[in-house]
Amino acid sequence: MSRIQIEGLTRRFGDVTAVDGISLDVADGEFLVLLGPSGCGKSTLLRMVAGLTPPTGGRILLDGRDITSAAPRERDLAMVFQSYALYPHLTVAKNIGFPLRTRRRRDPRIDADAKVAEVASVLGLEDLLDRRPKALSGGQRQRVALGRALVRDPGAFLLDEPLSNLDATLRTATRAELTDLHRRLRSTFVYVTHDQVEAMTMATRIAVLNGGRLEQVGTPEEVYDAPASTFVAGFIGSPAIGLLPARLSSVDGALRAVGDGVEVPLGAGEDHGRDVLVGVRPEHLRLGAGDVQFRGTVRHVENLGGEEVAHLDVGAGRIALRGPRPLDLAVGDPVALTCDPARVHLFSATGGRRLVRTPSRDTVAA
Ligand code: ATP
Repeated sequence: MSRIQIEGLTRRFGDVTAVDGISLDVADGEFLVLLGPSGCGKSTLLRMVAGLTPPTGGRILLDGRDITSAAPRERDLAMVFQSYALYPHLTVAKNIGFPLRTRRRRDPRIDADAKVAEVASVLGLEDLLDRRPKALSGGQRQRVALGRALVRDPGAFLLDEPLSNLDATLRTATRAELTDLHRRLRSTFVYVTHDQVEAMTMATRIAVLNGGRLEQVGTPEEVYDAPASTFVAGFIGSPAIGLLPARLSSVDGALRAVGDGVEVPLGAGEDHGRDVLVGVRPEHLRLGAGDVQFRGTVRHVENLGGEEVAHLDVGAGRIALRGPRPLDLAVGDPVALTCDPARVHLFSATGGRRLVRTPSRDTVAA
């Protein structure tokens, strides 16, 4: 059981700032996912927590103890790598039991065989204990790598893209296994991925990183339903959220966001001339008229089997509509769309931060 506090953590490599002053408080028993595109600094952040990369600034506390300069083996954390890093000449049993070797030297009472058997049963590896890694599937190798972490009974698990070498079907199955394992162990998991589906399906909270900085941290529902920026809005959700340029204006005390093909009433309020981006997710749009209006032209229709996605040009922007097949839309069709006003997101056109309606002040605030 472990709480991990990351305070203003920074890592520079020459001119590159890989991680730029990130603070995160990972509660005991959480499944925290570090999510972001390639190069955003998520592996560097995880490696600093593991003790494999020294920070150039900031602190890491483990259950209140400052471990910023502690050696990896003094941290009570187990890391699982994308590459699995198994010993090819050792059997599954020996690979899993490997971390116990040094421990047994210190404490001969440790029953390594019993511990390996226990871990193998948790992971369903009992029948594979005598095999070598080359005689295992990718999914089985991944489980052995997890087993080697598990056998140490660490306070927390640090996982760096552990599913990325698996094919799509196995990845989905292993996602469910990992969630189940987390539920049973009740340990802290910090998990790095660039895959938003992994993040949405497994995390108790998601930390979204961009260019070495923390864009937002929240539950999957929070980051999906109230993205803090256009970056988060665009990174999470497939097909991506539509973002359309518009400008705020008020007529007789009624505030609207108006753009080319865009008309969004925002209730009572005063605000003039501020440029915004109107965001709406594909599943929240429907064909027809309403208070919220988008007018565009069909550019492309995709058949997803049970559903269809129509991509539309709206003024200078793009928007996607997702609905049951068939949508009965053809390329070039002019289309009117609407949605529940509560589903419309507003972002600043400069900087992309979420704008929030503040009813008490009757304005739109950053
Ligand atoms: P990926 O998903 O591709 O692994 P990431 O989000 O994990 O990416 P990092 O590996 O943490 O990103 O890298 C963040 C930035 O730091 C990148 O610009 C990378 O090139 C740089 N970087 C990482 N490690 C080193 C290093 N040892 N030396 C120099 N630059 C590095």
